[in-house]
Amino acid sequence: MFPDSKPIHDPVAETKRLDAGNVVRTTTCYMCACRCGIKVHVRGDDVRYIEGNPNHPLNRGVICAKGSSGIMKQNSPARLTKPLRRKPGAARGDGQFDEISWEEALSMLTGRLARIRATDPKQFALFTGRDQMQALTALFARQFGTPNYAAHGGLCSVNMAAGMIYTIGGSFWEFGGPDLDRAKLFVMIGTAEDHHSNPLKIAISKFKRAGGRFISINPVRTGYSAIADEWIPIRPGSDGALLLALTHELIAGDLYDRDFVTRYTNGPDLVDDDAASNDFGLFVLNPDGDPMNPLPYYQHNRFWWDPGSDRAVDCNVARGAGVTPALTGRYALDGKPVRPAFGLLADSVREYTPEWAEGITGISATRIRALAVELGTVARQQITLPIRWTDSWGKEHDSVTGNPVAFHAMRGLAAHSNGFHTVRALAVLMSLLGTIDRPGGFRHKTPFPRHIPPNAKPPKSRDEIRPDTPITTGPLGFPASPDELAVEADGTPLRIDKGFSWEYPLAAHGLMHSVITNAWRGDPYPIDTLLIFMSNMAWNSTMNTGAVRDMLNARHADGEYRIPFLVVCDAFQSETVAFADLVLPDTTYLERHDAMSLLDRPISEFDGPCDSVRIPVVAPKGECRPFQDVLVELASRLRFPAFVRPDGERKYADYRDFVVNYEIDPGGGIGFLAGWRGKDGEKSLKGEPNPEQWERYAENDCVFHYRMPESMHYMKNWNRDYMEFSRDNGFRRRADPIIIHLYSEVLQRFRLAAQGRSAGKQPPEHLRERVEKYFTPLPYWYPPLEQAHIDAVHGDSYPLAAVTQRPMAMYHSWDSQNAWLRQIHSHNYLYVNTRTAIEQGIADGDWIKVESPWGSVRCMCRHSEAVEPKTVWTWNAIGKASGAWRLAPDADESQQGFLLNHLITDELPAREAGDEGRISNSDPITGQAGWYDVRVRIVRDPAQSAVTMPQFATLPAAPGTGAVHRVLAYFAGRRK
Ligand code: SF4
Repeated sequence: MFPDSKPIHDPVAETKRLDAGNVVRTTTCYMCACRCGIKVHVRGDDVRYIEGNPNHPLNRGVICAKGSSGIMKQNSPARLTKPLRRKPGAARGDGQFDEISWEEALSMLTGRLARIRATDPKQFALFTGRDQMQALTALFARQFGTPNYAAHGGLCSVNMAAGMIYTIGGSFWEFGGPDLDRAKLFVMIGTAEDHHSNPLKIAISKFKRAGGRFISINPVRTGYSAIADEWIPIRPGSDGALLLALTHELIAGDLYDRDFVTRYTNGPDLVDDDAASNDFGLFVLNPDGDPMNPLPYYQHNRFWWDPGSDRAVDCNVARGAGVTPALTGRYALDGKPVRPAFGLLADSVREYTPEWAEGITGISATRIRALAVELGTVARQQITLPIRWTDSWGKEHDSVTGNPVAFHAMRGLAAHSNGFHTVRALAVLMSLLGTIDRPGGFRHKTPFPRHIPPNAKPPKSRDEIRPDTPITTGPLGFPASPDELAVEADGTPLRIDKGFSWEYPLAAHGLMHSVITNAWRGDPYPIDTLLIFMSNMAWNSTMNTGAVRDMLNARHADGEYRIPFLVVCDAFQSETVAFADLVLPDTTYLERHDAMSLLDRPISEFDGPCDSVRIPVVAPKGECRPFQDVLVELASRLRFPAFVRPDGERKYADYRDFVVNYEIDPGGGIGFLAGWRGKDGEKSLKGEPNPEQWERYAENDCVFHYRMPESMHYMKNWNRDYMEFSRDNGFRRRADPIIIHLYSEVLQRFRLAAQGRSAGKQPPEHLRERVEKYFTPLPYWYPPLEQAHIDAVHGDSYPLAAVTQRPMAMYHSWDSQNAWLRQIHSHNYLYVNTRTAIEQGIADGDWIKVESPWGSVRCMCRHSEAVEPKTVWTWNAIGKASGAWRLAPDADESQQGFLLNHLITDELPAREAGDEGRISNSDPITGQAGWYDVRVRIVRDPAQSAVTMPQFATLPAAPGTGAVHRVLAYFAGRRK
């Protein structure tokens, strides 16, 4: 209790005094990927203070430690400020550079790229990190004519996106999320702090104040889990087993939402059950029924079994007639044996009992049973909202109902080589509970839901990759059948990362983590130029870090580099910059225009589409140029059709101009930004370019939010008005409903091809067994590949699962250079369950060796009760190479910080890949990197040294970077 209520000082008066002479500018944060609105206080070119923007729909004024520390990112000594070329004779990795002019850099790059484009465009590969401009980078690659493009999704959470999208048409975070305003039970599984950070914190806070119950299922209790009402520790990679056991219990206990499953999923649809048929496992189509969508693989004219009339009926007619179809049983349709898909699901989970899951997850069968009952029981406390809406079959409803159980999940589920099926299992569980796009459950955000799968496709053949010609599809997409794979006639991958090949058929986000290894090996072919934007591929964004660094520096016998030309564009001197032949200095988020576009990853709300922008608040430092401007410049110099007029004159002065005037279909009215379109800014979503569009965003907190009528807020998959709205505004091609795929016919098509039962593209012989094994139409659990390999080869020599997660105060490798945030974490420890550590004779604070079959690191151990006993974990990306990021050579980050990546292999012996001998350590369906699958052992290290291992030679300062200060201080705008 304070003696009186008088404040010690008046913080507002203080702020006003320091703020005198400041200008306050509005933009969007990028200290992490959440895109909160911020107000930046600027004096001259100095950023003085950053606060949350109370008018912004995402964060409503809330700002986190990272967001407010943007000032120190802006002033980082690690800022690259000049284009650089590797010194003649210097080796890659030595970090020896000469300054060059932008004109030299651009001419060098234009000449090289023009030659590649005119001969073999796939020799150019563009891979980007956690950028927010994938609509532009993908367009650049498409216009260049290369299929070799992807952003960071393959090494992040593609399993989360693909597993959900292939099941319910949408996913978490930008694409959808939990309705915590109405949920009563919230289950968070496999989520660290970094995704959807501030918005989720706000929502959880409100949810808990309203009395909601929050259960966290995670190997580690940090961040969100720390405020959960209950923490259920689980072993990494076993989430799928838990979810399948819960599904088993819901079905066995009749706790699922039968009405929802019947009306809105493919559960009642009849599947060909004739094992001798080439259509085995596919849905039987009614040739006389209404397909609703004429595209192959997307038709709706299926059959239900009507127990009343004891015959098969067209599902669309039956829906209208109020038929209650059979969900289980075996029937005959014109002599063909058929079964409802739900019956196949019920059969497939019969063996997944809680007792079975207990041995895998470490969660008792009793707890699993109780959780299933709680989920099913709370789901029955149905909410009804008086909102009128019309479904896709024309039926009008007076209200919307919902089952108040909400989930949230991210990389913890996804970053395993069994993650796709795990995420499918989650989506199926959510669907059985009847929680898809209903109040209190999961809700989509525009432009989702999409068709299952979405219409974007990768290029299908070599014929689509031609000199000086844009590719017309992709480069990324969502195959619906083997014929949509990016492979040669003999099954050889078309892409350098082997995405969309038979090794990783549904690689929706590509495999960034395989690019360097494949290019080094020349498998499936060598490339000439690799452009890496904003990704630390020589350090924390790669598995097997030491070997990948060697690959970047590897040469042929004739002395030429195996990857001949490496371009790195970044704002900071990362570890990867040291390997570049050409360095392009990027701007920070406070110095450039950005568009968080509906064509890419917008910030939509449940009630309607929402996009946002960044507008520069200070001038670029030194000679920095926004990468977006560089791409527009290169595209113009290379005369990409979308960037020049027929006479060859460039169309766009820069990125700012491009965003205003570019339309995806010229004259169609859809561009990068949806707000204030039309000549005078009077149109929304669609309309002619508005020359003053940026000004309108600037006047409106950098956000455009289109609020849909309430009738479109829920049941979007089957909401006629929402579907027509989506089609009319270019979010999808047709307005047919999106039926939930409990049973995935898409996966079954791949399986039939692997079994040689379908015409068209066939897997190479050595991959048939792999495809057949993993492409099951219903989710199942198998041990992650790396874990299975280690257990099989090394027995119990490596008994602990090792995982990383991001600290709440840091994002990727950007922030351990930040003078303020470094005061929170300057190095990391390996956290070990206290009991586990004591059994090993390891005391709190001891130095230890952590070993996997692939490598060893030396670090400090901390005891923790907040970690599952068979798991160890550490913060990601705090450990640095000495001298990188312009930290002092003896900084904590390099001397006491460490990188777990050294223990993770990027390739596994190909036990399932036949004669190839190796396969990426990735999900065999999507190519998602198996970050969280490694097994390790720990031993006390008696050596007296207080330095982590491995260590690397200290990097010199790149020309143009700043001086390292012992203390970096700013007082009233004056730099000391
Ligand atoms: S949550 Fe992310 S975007 Fe929001 S303020 Fe923090 S760092 Fe910035």
